[in-house]
Amino acid sequence: MRDSVTDVDRGISQESRTRDKRSTNEGSIEWGRAFYSMIMDLTTNRNRTADFLGTRANFIQDRVRALALVFAAVVFLWMGLDYVIIPDPAVVVKLALLRSLCAALYLGLAFLASKPHSLPRARAKLAALVTLPCAFYIASRFVLAEGAPPGALMVYDFFPFVVMVQLAIFPLPLLEGLMLSVPAFATLFAVEALFGEIMSLSFLGNLTLLVLLMCLALWASMSELQMLLRLYRQATRDPLTGLFNRGALMEHVQLEIGRARRYEHGMCVLLFDLDKFKRINDEFGHLAGDAVLQAFARILEKGMRQTDVVGRYGGEEFLAVLACTRKTDAESLAERIRAACADVEVSSPEGVRIEFTTSVGIAELEASEDAESLLSRVDESLYKAKDAGRDCVIVAA
Ligand code: GH3
Ligand code: MG
Ligand code: MG
Repeated sequence: MRDSVTDVDRGISQESRTRDKRSTNEGSIEWGRAFYSMIMDLTTNRNRTADFLGTRANFIQDRVRALALVFAAVVFLWMGLDYVIIPDPAVVVKLALLRSLCAALYLGLAFLASKPHSLPRARAKLAALVTLPCAFYIASRFVLAEGAPPGALMVYDFFPFVVMVQLAIFPLPLLEGLMLSVPAFATLFAVEALFGEIMSLSFLGNLTLLVLLMCLALWASMSELQMLLRLYRQATRDPLTGLFNRGALMEHVQLEIGRARRYEHGMCVLLFDLDKFKRINDEFGHLAGDAVLQAFARILEKGMRQTDVVGRYGGEEFLAVLACTRKTDAESLAERIRAACADVEVSSPEGVRIEFTTSVGIAELEASEDAESLLSRVDESLYKAKDAGRDCVIVAA
């Protein structure tokens, strides 16, 4: 879950970290990293949190449902237009049957049970939404070949373009968008090969138009993805440290407790509280206090594994959720982080080195324990660490 913190997210903390030693060279490295992470954000799903992918999946599933309902109605009601523009009643009846089948499939897609947070399910539905009109179009061209005026064909030939345009309303990374564009291109080629003339001027014109629409649709999809990412980060991040905020942490604690129960593996939470932090503010000022919080956040991030989640619980308190971890391992991780505080250099605006320490409480999830009890036990062990003289780790019994 840590992965979606990019350097762009961490703008403020990066600033303080490099405040005293920034050089042009470092500035361009930072810029390069931010640019690289933006490109990664917009092209693939790599480096995304499971939580963000789930949010995007829900978003996609909602929109597939809305579009499928609209298309079901349009495809069905279009029968009236077929009746007016196609003189052959046999063709009209066959098209009506095809349209009814297509509308029924759209309805099935709209009401297919949605599995929340499942990106594979959302992708499959989106692929069906793109493929269904392509299949309908190819089938109806076979029926229309039995006898339809050129005007009627024109009404049908815009299908690949509609399929492409609908991609614009989904938040998609580039690779996913490109893959979802394949059915529209395949349909254009197939219909041209079956009923037209490949490399004719009208085919080349249609192909150019489809490429143009793909570029615009994918641009819109990526902009939407970028906006969704930005809003998601704003809603789940602590702006000072770039770590998860309390709301996101609580959701993750619940999620992890559920997983620990289901798969019967251990799970630990660690609560860190910076010692005598008020003194740092009083002595060096709030900005220096902020720099210490940011430095500590970086220590936490470095110390955690890919599967761990860490966030700011409140003021100078931080919570880490360690999946599949027993308390002995959690204790050595906490010790490493406690010890690392002594090695980090944070300076006041006057250049005086600020030393800081942390107390840590640890609790391991017990059978059938809920989040409230787990958090109250970890809080208790943190209090014990404070009572024991601070700068130490206490594991709940
Ligand atoms: P203890 O060792 O018992 O934890 O003592 P403490 O001084 O750390 O604890 P206390 O709760 O008395 O003070 C916490 C301080 O943290 C008070 C508050 O001003 C400061 N603080 C909370 N959030 C921030 C922040 O975002 N920035 C800065 N600079 N200070 C903060
Ligand atoms: Mg505190
Ligand atoms: Mg404190």
